[in-house]
Amino acid sequence: MTIIEKILSQKAVRITPMRQLLLEYLLQEQKPFGLTELENSFPKADRTTIYRTLKTFEEKGIIHSIYNKLGEVKYALCKEHCTTEHIDQHPHFQCEQCKQVTCIDNLVIPKMELPKGYLVQEITMLIKGICSDCQQ
Ligand SMILES: [Zn+2]
Ligand SMILES: [Zn+2]
Ligand SMILES: [Zn+2]
Repeated sequence: MTIIEKILSQKAVRITPMRQLLLEYLLQEQKPFGLTELENSFPKADRTTIYRTLKTFEEKGIIHSIYNKLGEVKYALCKEHCTTEHIDQHPHFQCEQCKQVTCIDNLVIPKMELPKGYLVQEITMLIKGICSDCQQ
């Protein structure tokens, strides 16, 4: 069993060629990517199929989405222990110069007590600044 097959079966995702291809790519890249970048990397694949695969991965706790202030969405791999509830929520850093988004996954977003009657679906934290590469 390959590492790809192992992750998919751990997360209870049925193995298909597209899912294997995408996950392989994500593991190689190790940085957040957008739908357009994926489309360019898989010119033969149908946009809808890529999008659906991403949604499935997101629902199963394999990847998470990151929204920047322009409302663009990027996807990044989750930690291995992540679940469908996305218990691995962490801040994201966006570089104002190169626009690269990075997972700051050694930090944890603190639990927030909301007023009674409010139901949290997602908490996002985006930190803007200059990344270490751009400061050199
Ligand atoms: Zn997650
Ligand atoms: Zn940068
Ligand atoms: Zn992240």
